[in-house]
Amino acid sequence: MITSPAFSGKRYAILGLARSGMATLDALHASGAELMAWDAREELRDSVSDRATVADPMNSDLSGYDAIIVSPGVPLNTHPIVQKAADANVPIIGDIELFARARASLPRHKVVGITGTNGKSTTTALLHHIIESAGIPSQMGGNIGLPIMAQEPLSDGGIYVLELSSYQIDLTHSLDCEIGILLNITPDHLDRYDGFDAYAASKARLFDMMSQAQTAIISGTDEKSQLVIEYLREENRIGDVLDLSAAIGKGQENWPSLQGPHNMQNAIVAGSAAFSLGISQAQLDQALKDFRGLPHRMERMAEANGVLFVNDSKATNAASTGPALGAYSKIHWIVGGLPKDDNLDECAPFFDNIVKAYTIGEAGPMFGSLLEPHMPVDSCEMMLTAVQRAAANAKPGEVVLLSPACASFDQFKDFEARGNCFRCCVNSVIEKGEVGGLHSEAGGLAR
Ligand code: ADP
Repeated sequence: MITSPAFSGKRYAILGLARSGMATLDALHASGAELMAWDAREELRDSVSDRATVADPMNSDLSGYDAIIVSPGVPLNTHPIVQKAADANVPIIGDIELFARARASLPRHKVVGITGTNGKSTTTALLHHIIESAGIPSQMGGNIGLPIMAQEPLSDGGIYVLELSSYQIDLTHSLDCEIGILLNITPDHLDRYDGFDAYAASKARLFDMMSQAQTAIISGTDEKSQLVIEYLREENRIGDVLDLSAAIGKGQENWPSLQGPHNMQNAIVAGSAAFSLGISQAQLDQALKDFRGLPHRMERMAEANGVLFVNDSKATNAASTGPALGAYSKIHWIVGGLPKDDNLDECAPFFDNIVKAYTIGEAGPMFGSLLEPHMPVDSCEMMLTAVQRAAANAKPGEVVLLSPACASFDQFKDFEARGNCFRCCVNSVIEKGEVGGLHSEAGGLAR
């Protein structure tokens, strides 16, 4: 774990003891800090009573505390802790800010911070893989689900790659990334912000924390990303501002786990960051080839009778599903769930690639009427029905793609449960020989 003398003797209140909160507590405790901790769940509170005073910061005197550390899940726009902290004159921060404060006592290192509406996890995992493949010590952490304070500190010359959601940036004030990456900004999470502008401004704050000698890499063609580039160039505060929105890459046919125009964008960005870090073209080419991707993001799950099954359950909005539809030319598309929007406009440029759509979940009827003028649509409601029908219709060379363009909460706990359900359904049709209307051997089952 990452510890620092910077925390020794300081007093912190920790609100939220899930993964990152617990890692924070351990790291601060090991660093010699005095802690108050709270979570709505009793078993979590009990599990820390040997290292912290268990008390709810909402009902405690916070004077004399150095900071309140909240999990990024706490909505700063509505939660009463914000007023309580302001009244006590105590800053609210997150675990990434603690990491920033610990940096001075870590061996010489660099930090790459990656934000954007879509593609953060893929690009974070990809860049981490490229750096490690080049023989440079690296850790990844942050929103990717690995609390950074729980990671082992890197030896001299190492590189930390941090995935940063806008919520995490909101809780961070002094992270001076050597390379800051903004992939794109499209409307999302608007329940947590006072409009789209405020959400975009939150992402742009990543660059406000960086100093002159650093590098900003921005790849979005969207209006907000372009505005950020304009702003950074006008301000002339960061030395190197790279606009990759028009960059063209090549070699994608050699990268099995990086298909689709969105993954080309991710590869271009990761490649540019890798060059800034001194990694060679040959090292990059090899790493792009053997990158295995992340589960639930354009994941090549199984192949049977020449039909490829791809799990893109993480595509929870139309902006992330659009490019997934651009990745293949003959797609049986499983789409639907809890809709975030009333249109599929960002998917429309790729409608010609779809052989047939299979709608599921609450969005099914609405998506059905949007899609019917453009393609055959089968209303399936349930995942198993959709997989059975898509698998039966698909011909060799075609792809069955789950890319729902919706949140999962109408039928599943989260996008991972939805992707795992897809995997079970795919295994079932393969085992029963129900793929491609052909009856033959079971092929490779999904892991
Ligand atoms: P995030 O961590 O930002 O949610 P992920 O890498 O987990 O991003 O990908 C989320 C979804 O967005 C996946 O369905 C993925 O295929 C898609 N996606 C990946 N990269 C991009 C991109 N650059 N632009 C748009 N969509 C993307």
